[in-house]
Amino acid sequence: MSPSTVLGYAAPAAGSPLELFTYGEPELGEREVRVAVSHCGVCYTDVHAIGNHFGVFSFPLMPGHEIVGRVTEIGTEVSELREGDLVGIGWQGRCCGECEWCVAGEEHLCVAIARCGTWTPYGGFSSAVVVDSRFAYPLPAGLAPEAAAVLMCAGVAVYPPLRRYTTPSSRVGVIGIGGLGHLALQFAHALGNEVTAISTSPDKEEEARRFGADHFLVSTDRTAMEEAEFGFDTLLCTAHGHLDWGNLLNTLTKNGRLVLAAFPPLELGVGASEGVSGPLVDLVVHQLSITGSFLGSRAEMREMLAFAQDHGITPRTESMPMSQVNEALLRVSQNRARYRIVLVNP
Ligand SMILES: [Zn+2]
Ligand SMILES: [Zn+2]
Repeated sequence: MSPSTVLGYAAPAAGSPLELFTYGEPELGEREVRVAVSHCGVCYTDVHAIGNHFGVFSFPLMPGHEIVGRVTEIGTEVSELREGDLVGIGWQGRCCGECEWCVAGEEHLCVAIARCGTWTPYGGFSSAVVVDSRFAYPLPAGLAPEAAAVLMCAGVAVYPPLRRYTTPSSRVGVIGIGGLGHLALQFAHALGNEVTAISTSPDKEEEARRFGADHFLVSTDRTAMEEAEFGFDTLLCTAHGHLDWGNLLNTLTKNGRLVLAAFPPLELGVGASEGVSGPLVDLVVHQLSITGSFLGSRAEMREMLAFAQDHGITPRTESMPMSQVNEALLRVSQNRARYRIVLVNP
């Protein structure tokens, strides 16, 4: 195949708006596939990356990691995919394949994970991506491409921790009702949990209940938060902004667990002069745990897609042309997407 050009949108520097960016189509490795991007969801992690919030990104950066498209070329060692297959691709596009975590089938914990992003070197806000074929997942028949795109990151961000840390009798609080949260409510409901949506926005109650919430808690309502004391076995945090961790941790029962599926500022506040502050005292006295959850294994990704299909779990999406990527990113950064924006290539 003659080399051609990939067209996409990249940030030339940290914090810059994305600009049209082209690069020559890279050669395929023997286990890689080339995928023509038809849809790409916009995730808050794209906002973090463009802003270089964790200081680990290099520029120009082409984000985009909730990808759906068709395989256009396969490497010589690829046997499980064919040209023309419809696949979904999430944040992880490769792994080292050699560390203890990769060998154990937990590639999302790969020691080289920082270099395993689908966007390394170029992501899905573009016409095509190249990834390791093991991270291009055939999609269940009948799953709409917009929905599949969102499941590839937002879905796998919330399903594995719910499976890992809850049982059908668990009382689960989902913090933040946005791109991840509206899916977490659906998955938790389908898993049989007693589900509470926890939000700063009272106007989200009606929709949260439609997504599967049994209860709705306004996190700024002091009385309601006091009444919810010791009310949850598990809190799943899908929010990105500053949160009142003291009040939220009060709602966990003894031995309860807070699971972070997003990257909010976590200030438990050890003041130099005040000594150990309230939330940390509660952490010890009530034997609470704080756990992170990042992506999922390849097996969990496949299980999540099948579970979503079986239970009719459907992300609420709005579509925009790929060319409006900056407008989409602005809306996501301002928490104005309902609930996920999916960019569509012409
Ligand atoms: Zn994401
Ligand atoms: Zn590895």
